[in-house]
Amino acid sequence: MAKGIWIFAEHRDGKIKKVTLELLSAGRKLATETGEEVSALLFGKGVSGLASTLAEYGADKVYLADDDMLAQYTTDAYSKALGDLIMEKEPSVLLLGCTVLGRDLAARVAQKVKTCLMSDCTGVELSGGQLVFVRPVYAGKAFVKAVCPELKPVMATVRPNVLTADEPRAGRGAEVVNVAVHLEKTDLRQVIKDVVMQISTRPELTEANIIVSGGRGMKGPENYKILEELADVLGAAVGASRAAVDSGWIPQSFQVGQTGKTVSPALYIACGISGSTMHLAGMSSSKCIVAINKDPEADIFKVADYGIVGDLFEVVPLLTEECKKLLA
Ligand code: FAD
Repeated sequence: MAKGIWIFAEHRDGKIKKVTLELLSAGRKLATETGEEVSALLFGKGVSGLASTLAEYGADKVYLADDDMLAQYTTDAYSKALGDLIMEKEPSVLLLGCTVLGRDLAARVAQKVKTCLMSDCTGVELSGGQLVFVRPVYAGKAFVKAVCPELKPVMATVRPNVLTADEPRAGRGAEVVNVAVHLEKTDLRQVIKDVVMQISTRPELTEANIIVSGGRGMKGPENYKILEELADVLGAAVGASRAAVDSGWIPQSFQVGQTGKTVSPALYIACGISGSTMHLAGMSSSKCIVAINKDPEADIFKVADYGIVGDLFEVVPLLTEECKKLLA
């Protein structure tokens, strides 16, 4: 019988991603109710040092797949290694972050092991012995509760920032199980030649607690500096609508929305963004939405918790000054 709650551990630059810590805490709570074990899946090359963090955040066991062919993420390598492991160990649940990597990997693995995948979840709970997932539908206009009663493992990708990571328990240990990886060069159709990193002192968009986002109302790339100033005072990330990206004002990696990144920060400040369905699809699960728009009829005000009707070129600098005073 399938048993065990598995969390796929995402890491970058030698650090476990926040969404993994959130999932471990959620997995720990589920495990307390179901009496199962929580296992973290740690894939990569030279990453064994991260096992202790996973243990401190709730993993009982860490499956460590340390292999040259896993040094960089590729869909083929990771999905084969993870698919093989699932078929061997038969966990009951597998949770991944709803990140670029998590979405890519989860879809391929679910297909390989022939199970269902609840994608883009904003909540996970146990009800009547069954895992229930909350998912936005119609681009975030409604939410459904979905279950996967027949297939195992139950797989889901969960958005960053919708669950809360518990405090780590220093010194908590976990059993580390080395996983033999059976990968041939012929298994891989992608070869990573080069990785180009964008260096930023700001938080990563999908993990940020606060996002200051600008749309077509910014009127040009030079004006993003007023958003960056506010972002830096708040310790926030900067985001954008597709209109701003398509205008060439800001790179695509900053785009929030259906064809951009999905974010769920504690605070999303939308500046000069009208609130199209496509944009809302990526940010409507933000806990608090502040909209600054000169058009009182703009759709963004329908989802905003706080709305400021005004010219963003006046409002944003004033907001920055007030925040500076408050946070000084
Ligand atoms: P607009 O709709 O033009 O709104 C600009 C707003 O700025 C207006 O409300 C205006 O009142 C306000 N404004 C102007 N000047 C000021 C000022 N000085 N002060 C205050 N307010 C001001 N969009 C996304 O964002 N993300 C996606 O992932 C995405 N995916 C898409 C996928 C597909 C297949 C398609 C077809 C479209 C997609 N879009 C996406 C585009 C989407 O439909 C909208 O066109 C886009 O979101 C509009 O961006 P915007 O709100 O910045 O621009």
